[in-house]
Amino acid sequence: MSERIERDFHARDPDEQQAFLNQTWCDHCQQVDLGMTDPVEYELKGIVYIEGRCKGCGEPVITELTDEEF
Ligand SMILES: [Zn+2]
Repeated sequence: MSERIERDFHARDPDEQQAFLNQTWCDHCQQVDLGMTDPVEYELKGIVYIEGRCKGCGEPVITELTDEEF
């Protein structure tokens, strides 16, 4: 089993938080930038994820951060 390391999304710059909340891809809606609520940030196997709920449908949405983004 791999370790999920919790990170503090709210420690990020407010503008950055807003950008992550707005810039989403929802698999369920098949649409970009619907936005998310209830963000949780964590690291898994060296990759940082921000997971929340789609504002459009309420399904989970996950943003995967590449190296240059964090
Ligand atoms: Zn959606």
